This record gives sequence, C-alpha cells and structure tokens, in this order.
Amino acid sequence: MTLHLPTLLVALTLASGVLASAVLAVAWGSRRYKGLSLWGLGLVLNALSYPAFGLRDAGWLSLSILLTNALTALSLVIHTLALMAFQRGRSRSPPPWVVWVPAALNMLAAVALLHDDRWRNVLVAGLQAMMALVLLSQAWAPGLHGRRLTGRWVVIAGTSTLCATMVLRTLFMLEASEWDAQFNVPTQVQVATYFAILGVLLLNSMGYVLMQMEHAVGQQHELASHDRLTGLYNRLALMELMEHHLALARRRRSPLALLMLDIDHFKVVNDQHGHLVGDEVLRQVAQRAQARLRGADLLARFGGEEFLALLPATTAEGAQAVAEGIRRAVGEQPMVVNGVSIPVTISIGVHAAVPTEGPTAAEAMIALSDQALYDAKHQGRNRVVVVPEYKQSSEPSAQVEGVNRPSGQSGQVQG
Ligand code: GH3
Ligand code: MG
Ligand code: MG
Repeated sequence: MTLHLPTLLVALTLASGVLASAVLAVAWGSRRYKGLSLWGLGLVLNALSYPAFGLRDAGWLSLSILLTNALTALSLVIHTLALMAFQRGRSRSPPPWVVWVPAALNMLAAVALLHDDRWRNVLVAGLQAMMALVLLSQAWAPGLHGRRLTGRWVVIAGTSTLCATMVLRTLFMLEASEWDAQFNVPTQVQVATYFAILGVLLLNSMGYVLMQMEHAVGQQHELASHDRLTGLYNRLALMELMEHHLALARRRRSPLALLMLDIDHFKVVNDQHGHLVGDEVLRQVAQRAQARLRGADLLARFGGEEFLALLPATTAEGAQAVAEGIRRAVGEQPMVVNGVSIPVTISIGVHAAVPTEGPTAAEAMIALSDQALYDAKHQGRNRVVVVPEYKQSSEPSAQVEGVNRPSGQSGQVQG
C-alpha cells in the first residue's frame, strides 16, 4: 500500500494543529496550569514541521531540511521544558545544557550533512532518541514520584514509545539504501515514523493535561482540608477523619485519645508583638506539637489558637504522657520570631475512651476534652488535665509536674 505523501502531511498538520489549539485553549482558560502553554507551543511547532517537510516537494530542499529539523528539535526541547515547569519547586531541574545540547547538535548535523541524506538521517534520529530520553527522564523525575498522577504514566508510556521509535529509526537508517533515505518518498519506515510520532503526541499530550488536572484537583483537596497558616488539617477534615477512627476503635475495642490544646494568654502575644508575630508563634507551636506525635496521630487546627490531636489506640496514661511532652516542648524554650524571644505556654485537656456507639460520639469526646482544657485553664494554665473516664481508678496523679486531674472524678469536669 502506498500513501499519498501530501495528503498524509495535511492530515498530520491538522491532527497536530487541532491538538495544539485544544491544549492552548485550556492553558489560556486557566493560568494555574504551569507549563501547559509551553506544551501547546511545542505542539504548534510540531504541527508546522509537516508543511516544512512538504517544502521539499516545492523544490526548496535545503530550506525544508533545516526548517523541519529546527521545528522538530525545538518542539522536543519545549516539551521537556514544559515538564520541568510542571515540576518546578518539587524536584531539582537538570542543567539546561542537558536539554539544549542534543538539539544544538541536531541542527549542527542538519547543516553539516545537508547533502548527505543517509548520515544526516542516522545522526538526527540518534540525537532525537537522546532528546526523547531526556524527556523520559523528566517524566521519571523524583519530584513526581509517590504522587498519584496517572497522567505521568501516560507520558512515560508515550515518551518510551518515542525513544523506541527513534532508536529503531536510527538502526534502519544505518541499514537503508540511498533511495530509502530520500524522504520525498513515503517509504514504510517514514510512514511508520510519522504515525508513531502522532500516537506519541496524542498520548503525551493527554498524559500531560491529565497530570495538570490531577495536580489541580489534589491542590483543591489540600486547600479544602488543610489550614493555610500551619499546614495542619482543618477542623472539617479532622471531623471527617475522626469518624473513620471512631469506627475503627469501636470495632477493635481500642481506646481513642483526644488532646485539646490552647495557647495561654495568646491575646497578650498579639497585643505586644502584633498579629503577624502571633501567626508565626502559632506556626511554631504547631510544629513543636507535631514533632511530639507519632505518624498515626492526627493534629488539626481546631479554632483560632486551639489545636486538637487525635491519638488512635492510646490510653489515658499514654495520652497524658504525650500531652505532657507537648506542653514541655512548647513551654521550655521560648519561641523566637525575628530575633525576639517570646515565652509561650499551653494548656491541654485530655480525654481517652473506647468510643461509644451513636452519631454524636465524636462531639461528646470533643466536649469532654474541651472541659478538661477549661479545667486546666482554671487551675492556672500551663498544665495537662485528664478526664479519667477510661481509667478505672481515678486517683489524682502528682508524678508528672504540671499534670492535674480534673475535680470531677467520674469523667465529667466541672468548669
Ligand atoms: P487563655 O489563656 O484563656 O486561652 O487566653 P487567650 O488570650 O489565649 O484567650 P483566647 O484563647 O480566648 O484567645 C484567642 C486569641 O487568639 C484571640 C485572637 O486574637 C487570637 N487568634 C485567633 N486566631 C488567630 C490567628 O490566626 N492569628 C493570630 N495572630 N491570632 C489569633
Ligand atoms: Mg488561648
Ligand atoms: Mg482559645
């Protein structure tokens, strides 16, 4: 079967151009997709490379060869830059020469071997295989690992196909006769290369757009579930996660502990140092508290300067020890903001129990830890108070400095 080359070129230009327009339309529609307009530009250059190839039929062979090479190489470079732009800040980019040198060598080969079709084609295919490899390495970059981006795998599949196509093409060119290497004729290899490249472009572009969308959805989710200032879970996210942990604890009949933390006299910090410094203090308190928790524990910003920690499979004694660790970690060393030392203490209310059944179990547990916190404040602040509901014996513990039992012994603390 022979294909009519001009028809093929028009079809490829159209397919590539339509793809470019769609990608550019998405990029212009929303500025948050970093690198998407670059990707669209790469597609435009690729689309232009087909009419450039067609120029050789009009008698402009040298111009056609140089232009086709320039457009194809630049399109590959730009797609690599688009992947790098997507990852910016997530992993270190390779030095620019890794991206540009194969493209420059490609152009050098095109100029130097302008009249040697065979060796020009061998070298160019080899160099384009290298460029495809650089693109592949970007899709593999560590910044994208561990993130659930299905689109990344589509790009990896597309780029691997491109590498394989270019390697096969290099090998074929080494074996090809002079006639085969004259690309005015749509030989099987030339047609196969074109179709492979179109498939790769479709795959890569779909993968790249998908990656961008998945990343945006992930960011939305992050914004909706996390507190901007401290980076901790927000109240809504914690309440959702808590339902899950409550169900798990009920099934396993294991205790769940809640720690309600509140910074002491935080208004004074704001009044003396200003709200921005207050914000930084909040961040540092969150960091110190987080550092004392285990991987399975959850810490959330519950309100203004109140935090709630959820400790799965933790008894009242365990939770009390953790709370005491946090209290000390916050209070023993002052916070330092802009070189100014600011002493900060916190009070912590603790409640631990095997959760009861019922739709209001979470609220009831939070209310109990809140009451314990209220008691801690009333007893003079900078202390931990435990609601000893889970413990059978409710003897006041005096072993740990700063730790108090609430006045009510039956699990209820009167404020
Ligand atoms: P107490 O020991 O009784 O807790 O005294 P307090 O001054 O900390 O009192 P309270 O807990 O009622 O104060 C909350 C203060 O926290 C009031 C508010 O200005 C401040 N605050 C809440 N959210 C933020 C925030 O995001 N940034 C800053 N800088 N301050 C906040
Ligand atoms: Mg406070
Ligand atoms: Mg408060």
